[in-house]
Amino acid sequence: MINIDRSDDIFYRYKMSPLIIRQQGRNGQLILVNIDEIAKQLSVDSIKLVKFISYELGTKSGNTNNQWWIKAEQPTVSILQEIISKFIDNFILCKQCGNPETTISNHLTMKCASCGHRVKLVRPEDNGSVDKILKMYKK
Ligand SMILES: [Zn+2]
Repeated sequence: MINIDRSDDIFYRYKMSPLIIRQQGRNGQLILVNIDEIAKQLSVDSIKLVKFISYELGTKSGNTNNQWWIKAEQPTVSILQEIISKFIDNFILCKQCGNPETTISNHLTMKCASCGHRVKLVRPEDNGSVDKILKMYKK
């Protein structure tokens, strides 16, 4: 397990599984084997996490037979893990206390159950990956 905030503090209590990937022989599909598990650990919908990865890589994604995939030739697992960290920085960690016990409302207010902080997230409106995911929260 790794720390959600990327620290190496062994006493940090918020943990997540490292991403496991598997290259699918045909079509250049990369299966995100345990992305549902990671999404659950982050208390976020899998589709937001998968879409963010695909937007960051500029590639397609989907779900076939309950397996999430992205269309990608050879992104290393460390690149994908970096993208997941970027997702966490933007949508999971409290801007005040840094804990991941947050929720984002459809008005884009991030509330932290740990310290009580509330902040209105501002859409970059550049149609980039952060903007696109914030749009998904609005629905
Ligand atoms: Zn907080």
